[in-house]
This record gives sequence, structure tokens and C-alpha cells, in this order.
Amino acid sequence: MNSKPSPQCEDWASVYSDSFAILEAMYKRVLLKLSGEQLQGQYDGGFDAERAAWIADEIKKVQGAEIIVMIGGGNYARGAQLAGGGVQRVTADNIGMLATVMNALALQDVFNANGLEARALTNIKADQVADQFTHRRALSHLEKGRVVIVAGGIGRPYLTTDTAAVSLALELQCDVIMKATKVDGVYDSDPSTNPSAQKLQHVTLREAVENPDIKVMDKAAIALAEDHGQSIVVFELLQPDNIAKVVAGETVGTTISAHQG
Ligand code: UDP
Repeated sequence: MNSKPSPQCEDWASVYSDSFAILEAMYKRVLLKLSGEQLQGQYDGGFDAERAAWIADEIKKVQGAEIIVMIGGGNYARGAQLAGGGVQRVTADNIGMLATVMNALALQDVFNANGLEARALTNIKADQVADQFTHRRALSHLEKGRVVIVAGGIGRPYLTTDTAAVSLALELQCDVIMKATKVDGVYDSDPSTNPSAQKLQHVTLREAVENPDIKVMDKAAIALAEDHGQSIVVFELLQPDNIAKVVAGETVGTTISAHQG
């Protein structure tokens, strides 16, 4: 399920196509979850400024909505993969959280350089490089029309930035979580092995928690969303206009919500 093949590096010309649609927001405050992998763009790891600039241009198409980005770190480090051989899990997770800070700093610079005002805030203490996340500080930046990029996940080990994204969306009362992925939604079976796999337009949060084939987000994250009725839209990042379309309430990807669609 949800494993439609992603664009290959050679497809970049088409991915970075020109598109200038500007759509009015239906959601007024959104949490955009970007994984580290999405920032590595054409590379095998690390940070691709060209990809980040493309994302900035896509976010600029959104009119009238406040945007908070929860940034992952998997392009540099994931705790579960790094732990072992003497590296403790807690240490590995700390390294993972530091990776998210690196992404947030670079993303902040690229957004600002491309005319999208942004501020990075961190949930781990890193005074020298970024302001600490506080609820008030985040709201203050949003009021000034800035994108708020949040690093450090929740700031504790044994968690991921998916769970942190749901927690932050609840804290900041976001209307929706936009989970950007390589695929265009959740499928009823694996489209890479089943050519007749169908994309699902809607899934309930309960189904998303219970169905082991739905792996688009950590179960802990979806369970937290279910506890609080927080809606999630799973959509393909690399389709031009998709971010603006989701914010405008257009039918894009798969909606995961408390009620039947
Ligand atoms: N992490 C953590 N606590 C958090 C968020 C993240 O310990 O609240 C660590 C964890 O090791 C994780 C890594 O940071 O693997 C990078 O985050 P994630 O794997 O969610 O990044 P993504 O896959 O979204 O790029």
C-alpha cells in the first residue's frame, strides 16, 4: 500500500516546471510535514537548495493561510537506523533531532532568499543557532505573516517528527495536517505490485490506525490525531500547485479524518 514509485532524479526537469496558480485558502492555519528525504532532492542525502527553493515557490502560491512546517531529519540521520554498535538509541535520537535543526536552518535561509519570510524555531536547546520554540513566539511569527519552521521534533527521544507534527498541530490549533509524500495518497493495495490498486480518497483515522498496510505516518502519530479528531491530508509534494490546492480545500490525495468521507 501507498508505495507508488517516486519520480527518479532524471525527472527533475518536469518536476521543476513553471506554474503560477494562486488559490484562496479554505484552511486558515496548516501544519505542513516535510520529511528530510524531501529536502535531499536530487541527491542521495543532505540538503538540496534547489528543491527547497521549489518548495518555497509552491508555498508562495498559498494565499491567506498561516503555515507551520515540521521538518524531519532523515536525509541526515534517523535514530532507529543509527543506533547500535555502541551508539545508544538515546544518542542516536539526539543526533536525529540535531539533523532536523540542520534542515531547519538551511530551509529558513532558502525560504528567505526566495522571498518567503520564514523563521526557524527549535524544540531542542540550540541557542547559538536558532530561537527556542515557544507557543507565543510561534504565534507572533505567524501574525507577522512568516512561515514558522519547527525543528527538534518534540525534543525527546523514541519519537519521530510525524508524532511531533501532530502534537504541534494540536498545540497551534491547525485546521489540517498536510503530510507531504512521494505518493499521491493512500492506496487499497500496493500499486507497485498490483496494477489495479485504487487510490482511496478518504480513510478514517480509526482505519489508518488499525490497518497495518497504511504506513504513510507512524501509528503513534495517527493515534494521537485520532484521539483529538485532527484531520490529515496525504498528498504528493512534487506535483506543482498541490500545496495550494490542499490549502484551498480541493480534492487532492487522501483525507484521513474522524468521519466517513
Ligand atoms: N527524533 C526524536 N524525537 C522527536 C523527533 C525526532 O528523537 O521528537 C529523532 C528520531 O531519531 C528520528 C530523527 O530524529 O528518526 C529524524 O526524524 P524523522 O525520522 O521523523 O525524520 P523524517 O523521516 O521525517 O525525515
